[in-house]
Amino acid sequence: MNETTKLLAVFRVEQRLRGLRSRLDAAERFLSEQETQLAKNAQQLESLASQLRQVTASIKESEDEIAKIDARVEKLREEMNTARTNKEYQAFLVEVNGLKIERGRVEEEVLAHMEQAEAIKSEIEKLEQDRTERDSVRKVAKKDRDTRHKEIESKVKELTAERDELAAEVQPRILSDLRRLLREREDDAMASIEVIDRKRHEISCSSCMMTLPIEVLSTLLSGRLTLCSNCGCFLYIDDDAVEALQPASSKR
Ligand SMILES: [Zn+2]
Repeated sequence: MNETTKLLAVFRVEQRLRGLRSRLDAAERFLSEQETQLAKNAQQLESLASQLRQVTASIKESEDEIAKIDARVEKLREEMNTARTNKEYQAFLVEVNGLKIERGRVEEEVLAHMEQAEAIKSEIEKLEQDRTERDSVRKVAKKDRDTRHKEIESKVKELTAERDELAAEVQPRILSDLRRLLREREDDAMASIEVIDRKRHEISCSSCMMTLPIEVLSTLLSGRLTLCSNCGCFLYIDDDAVEALQPASSKR
């Protein structure tokens, strides 16, 4: 095996490892999204519960006020019955009428607060439904994540061992270049050449699509490691390119 073939073998295993991990990552992301939404739901429920407590307290306060007004009116009516002068009677009447107006105002307040309480309660109910639904989604998501984790665990171990074995054949300096390229370019860390014109030895990099100098082909054919002068990826010759490089007469 030449240098390029050795590096390509490492790259292929890295690609498979990445593929496995990306499925797990997707499951992790989905689960974490469900947990975020549940936390948000809990926060909203808490805030609504506190609003409901405040409104309920206001209703209670207003009802107490109404009871006080009623007691006062009751007392005034008794006093009216024993009024000695018309003037005294009229004074009681004015106070009773004032209290009636006040009672009406407080009653309206109670109604408004009751409506508010109903609205909050129905919001709470909706959020509780959402929570139940979201929680079952979360359970499924967690199970899925765990299953995927288990599924890939042994495969990742196996591939990691395979990758390490293959990597031992490659110079550390080159390996660290590959790792950097994998971080920066993922699947485009290595790219095959594409044959544009066999006779004129015109080739391009299949990652960046830029035409490569003629001498790149001979370097690659000699098995030496070659970088794309444009995008910096490691180049290789895949089966399609090998086929395309063969003279037309020798093609099956
Ligand atoms: Zn390139």
